[in-house]
Amino acid sequence: MDKDKVWSKILEFMKPQVTPINFRGWFMQASIGEFTDKKITILVPNIFFAQQLKTRYFDLINTALLEVTGKNMDLEFKTDPSKLMRGKQIEDMDFDFGKLKQTVIHALNPKYTLENFVVGLSNNVAYAAAEAVVQNPGTSYNPLLFYGGTGVGKTHLMLGIGNAILKKNSQLKIIYCSSEQFMNDYVEAIKTHKMTDLRAHYRRADILLVDDVQFFSGREGTQQEFFHTFNELQSKNSQMILTSDRPPNEIDKLEDRLKSRFQGGLMIDIQAPDFDTRVAILRSKSQEQGEVVSEEILKLIASSMESNIRELEGKLIQILQNLKTQHLLPTPENITPFLNGQLNSGIKTDYRKVISVVCDYFNLNLKDLTGPKRQKELVLPRHLVMYILSEELGITVEKIGQILGGRDHTTVMHGRDRIKKLSKIDREMQRFLIEIKQKLSTIT
Ligand code: ADP
Ligand code: MG
Repeated sequence: MDKDKVWSKILEFMKPQVTPINFRGWFMQASIGEFTDKKITILVPNIFFAQQLKTRYFDLINTALLEVTGKNMDLEFKTDPSKLMRGKQIEDMDFDFGKLKQTVIHALNPKYTLENFVVGLSNNVAYAAAEAVVQNPGTSYNPLLFYGGTGVGKTHLMLGIGNAILKKNSQLKIIYCSSEQFMNDYVEAIKTHKMTDLRAHYRRADILLVDDVQFFSGREGTQQEFFHTFNELQSKNSQMILTSDRPPNEIDKLEDRLKSRFQGGLMIDIQAPDFDTRVAILRSKSQEQGEVVSEEILKLIASSMESNIRELEGKLIQILQNLKTQHLLPTPENITPFLNGQLNSGIKTDYRKVISVVCDYFNLNLKDLTGPKRQKELVLPRHLVMYILSEELGITVEKIGQILGGRDHTTVMHGRDRIKKLSKIDREMQRFLIEIKQKLSTIT
């Protein structure tokens, strides 16, 4: 047997013994160097790899060697930096097990777990279903389908289930793909006449996770193939979990029979997280980053954005990084500049709410605010309203003039620009803006 053949057999032996993640992480980047009757050298990218393989898999590799060669051999590791692959390369790599060409299982990102999924009012039903499926895959709800807007946690929850099941039983074959990947695999299989392999691959899954099934829309061939895959998996009680950005009956150009399959298990919508959940998510993400961020700051960021947790998380990380590079402490003053302009996208508000919050805040009545008097105590709040309505709500200066008791649009521009300038340099102004925004985001 030549050494490549030996290595391929070893891998074949190892694969079911380790999780897909570990398999890809540790073994796909290794190969055989020297191979004699008595000794085998495994080439790995660096010394860290060598150590890990030695401590974690020495016995397993030895067993595999004995199995494959029928001999006890000396096992040695040697580093060869050219072996190091980038993540993407690993993803794209196909692996040849002798004759059968099999796409490497798309690994589940281990970062998404049920443990680090924050449960709140917007997703508790989905979470409960997730737990039920982990307890009894394939039997309770099949398929389980999560639907909801972008960045509400659908993929996270689905992968969380996959990872939890894998933890309980690492032998299970879990396949995760997006609907586009399935489509690409299908197209590729047609081109290369490898339909049998494709079917073998997907239909052997114990758990099949398909992300964003709305993209099946209009793909007739793919839909047909997926329909049969679905039926096959369902008939052998393999658990399927799907996500979609909308309920199946609203997916355009999706065959009725697939719609009814998708709806035939349990469908749960995940909604945009409420304020408290957003704060809790930010708390958890900042802890993951090893940062302690005060509640005040978390609330401030949480109020700057309403629906998309991915963006919210991005904002948090961006803020933390920026503060770090500028050697600033995470105080409300320091983070305001990052939040400016976010209110509009985050808060569904109208000008009445802004006016009432500002009046409340400065303890004024509406008549004074919109009236003609020009005392200092009135001018500042008026300017703040102009600023917020213009910058955050995007209302035209003409309209703002009307709202504020028929003022000229140049007056509005002047007031708005004054606050804009002050908000960059004046701490008190920053504080006003933060607190007003906070109030705006918490009242509904
Ligand atoms: P979707 O698939 O719905 O577009 P994702 O699952 O990709 O959204 O979530 C976007 C980001 O928000 C991910 O980083 C995810 O970890 C995070 N996220 C979403 N919901 C939660 C939650 N409930 N707890 C913790 N993180 C969450
Ligand atoms: Mg997703």
